[in-house]
Amino acid sequence: MLPSKILKPNEQEVQAMADNIAKKEEIKTQILGKLKRHFGKTLEEATKDQIYKSCALSIRDVIVEKWTDANKQVLNQGLKRLYYLSAEFLMGRALVNNMINLHLLKDYQEVLSDMGISLDDIEEQERDAGLGNGGLGRLAACFLDSLSTLDLPVTGCSIRYEFGLFRQRILDGEQVEVDDNWLEAGNVWEIPRPEEQVEVRYGGELEEIWTDRGLKINHKNYYSVLAIPYDYPVIGYMSKMPATLRLWSAKAKTGLDMHYFNRGDYARAMQERELAEVISKVLYPEDNHEQGRQLRLKQFYFFTSATMQHMVHKHKANYGDLHTLPNYFTVQINDTHPTLAIPELMRILMDEEGMGWEEAFDICGRMFNYTNHTIMSEALERWEEDMFKELLPRIYEIIKVINDKFCSRLWDVYPGEWDKISKMSIIAYKEIRMANLCIAVCSKVNGVSKLHGEIIKSRTFRDFYVVFPDKFLGITNGITHRRWIAKANQPLTRLLADHIGDGFLKDYKEMDRIADLLDDPKFLDDFMEVKRQNKIRLRDHLKKTQCIEINENTIFDVHAKRLHEYKRQLLKVLHILHLYNLKKENPAVQLEPCTFIFAAKASPGYARAKNIIRLILAVADLVNNDPDTRGVLQVVFIENYSVSEAEIMIPAADISEQISTAGLEASGTGNMKFMMNGAVTLGTMDGANVEIYEAVGEDNIFIFGATEREISRMERYGTYKPGEYYEQNTDLRQALNRLIDGTLPVANDRQFSDLYHSLLFGDMDRADKYYLLYDFASYSQGYERAVSAYQDAARWKRMAATNTAKSGVFSSDRTIHEYNDKIWRLREMT
Ligand SMILES: *Cc1c(COP(=O)(O)O)cnc(C)c1O
Repeated sequence: MLPSKILKPNEQEVQAMADNIAKKEEIKTQILGKLKRHFGKTLEEATKDQIYKSCALSIRDVIVEKWTDANKQVLNQGLKRLYYLSAEFLMGRALVNNMINLHLLKDYQEVLSDMGISLDDIEEQERDAGLGNGGLGRLAACFLDSLSTLDLPVTGCSIRYEFGLFRQRILDGEQVEVDDNWLEAGNVWEIPRPEEQVEVRYGGELEEIWTDRGLKINHKNYYSVLAIPYDYPVIGYMSKMPATLRLWSAKAKTGLDMHYFNRGDYARAMQERELAEVISKVLYPEDNHEQGRQLRLKQFYFFTSATMQHMVHKHKANYGDLHTLPNYFTVQINDTHPTLAIPELMRILMDEEGMGWEEAFDICGRMFNYTNHTIMSEALERWEEDMFKELLPRIYEIIKVINDKFCSRLWDVYPGEWDKISKMSIIAYKEIRMANLCIAVCSKVNGVSKLHGEIIKSRTFRDFYVVFPDKFLGITNGITHRRWIAKANQPLTRLLADHIGDGFLKDYKEMDRIADLLDDPKFLDDFMEVKRQNKIRLRDHLKKTQCIEINENTIFDVHAKRLHEYKRQLLKVLHILHLYNLKKENPAVQLEPCTFIFAAKASPGYARAKNIIRLILAVADLVNNDPDTRGVLQVVFIENYSVSEAEIMIPAADISEQISTAGLEASGTGNMKFMMNGAVTLGTMDGANVEIYEAVGEDNIFIFGATEREISRMERYGTYKPGEYYEQNTDLRQALNRLIDGTLPVANDRQFSDLYHSLLFGDMDRADKYYLLYDFASYSQGYERAVSAYQDAARWKRMAATNTAKSGVFSSDRTIHEYNDKIWRLREMT
């Protein structure tokens, strides 16, 4: 007999069912209505792209309505707004994430499925918004989600790059770059605001004019470009206050130059137009590397000038008095790329609004804050003084005055210490140093993990720290657990919701309750079943997209992040060659079957990084096809690492490789994504790995390698001799020799000998700058420890689940709370 409940539902349940049907009818009507009115199509005639766009537009309606109301409320309630300035926002796809955050995912899934459509198919129609290189841009994206979830008002500001980060294909054993024309098929999320365009000026000369109100600067003979804003609403989880992502697009001020056009010189007539619009054409594909190129400087000034002009206009329109600006706006500078916002606001306040220097400088000092993301010198932004001065003459003058005043202040603290002052100076040796400008002006300067926060105080910016001890702090990065659990790992989301409810999606602290489940054997089994499903999903995805077959019954050991020498993909490869050697030497040796998964884009101009990709592919070719290792060791390279690929790979990982040279990965956020999804970290004591170690405890992580102190001692005294490790460690020597002994056939056989030489002798540089040989033995032991833990299934499932259970503190909601307490002081919209 059926339970009476099903035979006779009570009134409340009848009502709930009716509401649900009504809601789904409404969603269906919305989608069909969009198809009809936007595309003139019925469901039967529509393409997948049109169905995607209709779903997206119907979702957008819901968000835009909240957004419009919320932005009015910000004014009514007199709330301060954060401007988060970042040259990169690595947003990924929006559709399903928005459905989750609006609590509409299930309804849309069901409505579409009733129409015979799978949401997964529809989702794939959306192009990733790939407006970033890696961690720095993805952090900005996570922050918008958390700020909105916490109902804090924010506008993220950047460039509407027409081409995002290149897409990567693997062809003939190497990386090939394909352009990312992501706006090609149109973008349903953006709302152009041509009525809010502003003009950005470059070049020209300055002229000083004495007026009855004092000295006035006249900027003449400049050329200008229009900045057109495109706004994207970004909604957090169950939020009242959608964030705004404002992307500026460059447009020529005049159409065609009719002077030339009328004389038949059509190419010349178009030239000015093209020169202007190239500014927002393409994202520079370099991560942790700056190369002082003029177009990049133009880009940075373009979006910061436009943002500052917009902020001042808006404030004047709403409140009139510019002296209250710091009560209503606070600006976060994400890495130094947006630093020009500081002198630009000075320029606007003084030259356009007639404010005096001291007043304007005081306002800037109260509004700007700076996040440092790296201590590597090749990544520190510096500009050649003459080029800068020619492109931005007024901004240059302002920076010079800031520097003069700053240096005379330093002179009082360090009388006579020229060396120290020239090291701290904003302009020196014909270069402008953007980090120094930020530190001189901003109220707070933060590092992005505990370790990194300490390193910038004690080393990188020590002299500044002595003068401004209260400016410096460390705030550990985070990731939004909406995208990295709820979106990327729906099976895990359901499992967690079954046990602790879904409140953790709004309140990350509820994730701590997962720890209560670690002694529940059923939960642990279900947790591992979720992992298995995710491994199968990755297996099927790889089959479909790259025709590669992998075996889900092996360890998935994943190293996914930008390709950079300091991230040490090469160390991982050397270790794989060592395992290969073990098996070749003694085919009877039992190795735990393991699938080594790499994913990494190399900057197109970074020859050694591209070479390391060639090596990974060559080693894959070797071990995957050798009968002695086939089925035991498999190496795969997943193309085009991006947010959407990360969403599939990370939930499938057993081991998370976080093996940077200690001291060089400021935080890392990939490490947090893996941990949250139940992968166990094999890593160095670097960046936020240190805090993952503190959170999970030493039994639930595999730490290896030199510490930051060890490395910095070797750096200081120059005592490291990689050749000695090569001589003394047979495993290492044999692994390295594989690079040059003909095992790895390459078209141009100099390629891998270059890598070999760079480790043992150094070419232009020191040998083995990143201490691979130093850490090899320790890494090898770390890997062995991880594999034996994996072989103990009972131990492993507890380890994996512990990682998820302890990951709440790495939610970017916690990060945003800290920024808000210590820096921004925003009030939530109510
Ligand atoms: C999180 C993320 C990164 C950053 O990874 P790290 O391991 O911290 O360097 C880079 N790219 C994408 C696509 C990401 O999602």
